Amino acid sequence: MATALRTDAAEMELAELEHYFFSANAPKFHARQIFQWIYGRGVTDFAAMTDLGRDLRAQLARDLDLSTPTVARRERSADGTTKFLLQLADGHLIESVFIPDTPSQTFCISTQVGCAMRCAFCLTGKMGIVRNLTAGEIVGQVRVLLRELNMLDERFNIVLMGMGEPLHNYDATMKALRILGDEHGLAVAPRRITLSTVGVLPALERLATEPFMPNLAISLHSTTEDQRDMLVPINRKYGLKELLDACRKFPLKRRSRITFEYVLLEGVNDTPEDARRLVKLLHGIKAKVNLLPLNEAPGIPFTRPSDARVNRFAQVLADHGVTVSVRRSRGRDIRAACGQLITESSRKLAPGAQLAQLMEQH
Ligand code: SAH
Repeated sequence: MATALRTDAAEMELAELEHYFFSANAPKFHARQIFQWIYGRGVTDFAAMTDLGRDLRAQLARDLDLSTPTVARRERSADGTTKFLLQLADGHLIESVFIPDTPSQTFCISTQVGCAMRCAFCLTGKMGIVRNLTAGEIVGQVRVLLRELNMLDERFNIVLMGMGEPLHNYDATMKALRILGDEHGLAVAPRRITLSTVGVLPALERLATEPFMPNLAISLHSTTEDQRDMLVPINRKYGLKELLDACRKFPLKRRSRITFEYVLLEGVNDTPEDARRLVKLLHGIKAKVNLLPLNEAPGIPFTRPSDARVNRFAQVLADHGVTVSVRRSRGRDIRAACGQLITESSRKLAPGAQLAQLMEQH
């Protein structure tokens, strides 16, 4: 059968697999068995699905692929954080990170190869975007990490905070969440998943209508339009004020809040005045703030503020009743920390040209 016509079981929701069996005049409960093998037991080959008949296994192997990223490199930090360099079927590389004991076990996964957003302090942004990940590639990172870390029976959280902007790859990201959440597979509860975004507004408004709703984190990073235009260039298209209005309207579950991520850059956005402006901006939003002291890197033209400056900023928020935490940076020694994920890949357009193109499209 021609490759282009083959379907990939890794890309299928349960209902799609059931449809496959239905079309083949076979009982659809096989779909659940396969989900259990792929997600519950970490199997990557139909031949290993031993409760399916031999003929059926052979037929599946003829009809379907089951693509799984391969581990190109694995690096463990002194603090236990482990960074995986994963290779996709077409050779592109992405990074996924396991962050233990936060106190939960957390997988930080990517949604794109590279990123189009070009935030001024982020290394991934320097790569530009190479391509979107498919739903199967997004979920595949979780499958591979679970198996590699022997965690198939453990509970874990997922943060979409690796490479890429999830809301710039909306359909694949949402499909991946549905697959991850399926009760016949990994059954990850939505409250265990956090989607982090710079605020691509039309997509954020769509997210507000989704039945499977993850926690929301907004990469805010600035309190004025002019400065955010510079630090988070998509702000020129979808400004701070509109973004915060959308957050105010966002349907939050009981007791849940929106996390606002705020990278602290010395002398740029880390003064007590910035903190007071942030308090005002968040007024009326069920919010918590996560401060990210900059992870410095060559080519990033900003400095990490001292702990004293970080604490001073946090204190202003706390004094005004805003819940605040400081992200203890994990895995910095292996460049696995926030904004440090980058892989060598070819790309067609320079990152600046890509962003310009993106802003025209929306
Ligand atoms: N594109 C999404 C998902 C990436 S999450 C988003 O931006 O929200 C990665 C988080 O790390 C974002 O909040 C990002 O702004 C932050 N980050 C990027 N570069 C950083 C750096 N050098 N130091 C600290 N945090 C950084």
